[in-house]
Amino acid sequence: MLSIVHSGALKGIEVVDVTIEVNSGERGDPRFIMVGLPDAAVKESHDRVFSALSNSGFACPRMRTTVNLAPGYIRKEGSFYDLPIALGVIQSTAQANMHLLDGFVIAGELSLSGTISDIRGGIAFGLYAKQHSKKLILPPKSAKEAALVEGVEVFVADSLVSVVAFLSGDVPLPRAQSSIENFYSIEQDYVIDFSDVVGQLAIRRAVEVAVAGGHNLLMIGTPGSGKSMIAKRIPTIMPRASMEEMIDIMNIYSAAGMSLSEENSCFRRPFRAPHHTISTVGLLGGGVIPGPGEISLAHNGVLFLDELAEFNRMTLEVLRQPLEDGEITISRSSGKVTFPCSIILVAAMNPCPCGFLGDKTGRCKCSPNLVAKYRSRISGPLIDRFDIQVDVPSVSLSDLRGRGKAECSADIKGRVERARSMQNKRFRDRKTTNARMVNVREICTLDATCQNLLDMAMRNLYLSARAYDKILKIARTIADLAESDRILEKHILEAIQYRSLDRVFF
Ligand SMILES: [Zn+2]
Repeated sequence: MLSIVHSGALKGIEVVDVTIEVNSGERGDPRFIMVGLPDAAVKESHDRVFSALSNSGFACPRMRTTVNLAPGYIRKEGSFYDLPIALGVIQSTAQANMHLLDGFVIAGELSLSGTISDIRGGIAFGLYAKQHSKKLILPPKSAKEAALVEGVEVFVADSLVSVVAFLSGDVPLPRAQSSIENFYSIEQDYVIDFSDVVGQLAIRRAVEVAVAGGHNLLMIGTPGSGKSMIAKRIPTIMPRASMEEMIDIMNIYSAAGMSLSEENSCFRRPFRAPHHTISTVGLLGGGVIPGPGEISLAHNGVLFLDELAEFNRMTLEVLRQPLEDGEITISRSSGKVTFPCSIILVAAMNPCPCGFLGDKTGRCKCSPNLVAKYRSRISGPLIDRFDIQVDVPSVSLSDLRGRGKAECSADIKGRVERARSMQNKRFRDRKTTNARMVNVREICTLDATCQNLLDMAMRNLYLSARAYDKILKIARTIADLAESDRILEKHILEAIQYRSLDRVFF
């Protein structure tokens, strides 16, 4: 008898249809044949399914049985299909009459005893079910994730026996309950705050401008000047994520097998700080079954690259296009997978190999050639991705922490949110920020005085044409922070200060 079970495969952060056909009782040798999975996965799945069947009181098929996972060209992970395969075998050998089987999309890994373990991509299953108006049966944690997608009916599978009883119409299965509203309404709290960073007023301001306009930020300064302490606090001043942004972030984590919702009792924007020894695949994503890299795990948040000059140069070069596009596409023989990566890139580097160039103590003995060579590790086009480049003066860490409290994150965040709402009105969507604007010269119009000022700066400071548009964008953000519709002279003057590398690198 032929039975059909509906399931799904995770392709990047999307679920695509997979159908499991099981046919039992064919003529020929009593064999169990499985097609549509990689060889090693077939063997493992076969062993788990047979053990779970016998430990759950079902008979393993003694007739020739064929299992086909279609379509064959999709790269599948074996563990997703244990539960649907076991159900298909039970149905096709007439050990139960699961008349409800056709109405569900089912996935889950079986333990040898017949209990069901979690799979990756719970949120992606939820989004898929919503889009195609389907009902789901998933392992407990995956079901909880899928239920975060509004209006999706998800049932919790904890054992093979209970799923068979449910699909036969005998015993109900519990519905997964998670409310995105409840989750969203929890106030975000951070243990760190910008009030911990005392002094460094110029850098605090540069960070505020960067976050307000979504600009990438490069900090250049001696070790111990507080660059990473400042970077870590950037998510605390970012505008609150929308529900849609939140689901996008959680979808990536769930597809990567990392549950953001479980790790944190409340939702926060991601902050990722990979070490400089990271591989290209680790940073950008990839693998046999492509998974997201650090750049996508930082989606809608911050990717912090400390010691930028120490990263592999080739790895950094591949970063350029995704930074521009806000997404990254990984090509495999089985097709293309796209992951979103709309991030603020924050990087820190030392000014020279020893790190103390410009330090008051004069301990830097690096020759100009050595400094130039060190800086050339980062290409001009990559440097160009940083709208804001600032020098971080050296202060001792005790200075950074001491002398009372500075302005707290909540106050800065208030200004950032007001500046973002001006941008939302300007671009008529929530995703475009000043950093991502096109038609810069149409949007950032200047009056005659400002135009003269900028022209003069271009001539006197030998700024590049590229720097011209960057200065306009940053000036627009500074004007937004001041809630000014017009760009004023002081906004231009401040924006020029944030291009400290233009003359060094070009
Ligand atoms: Zn030095």
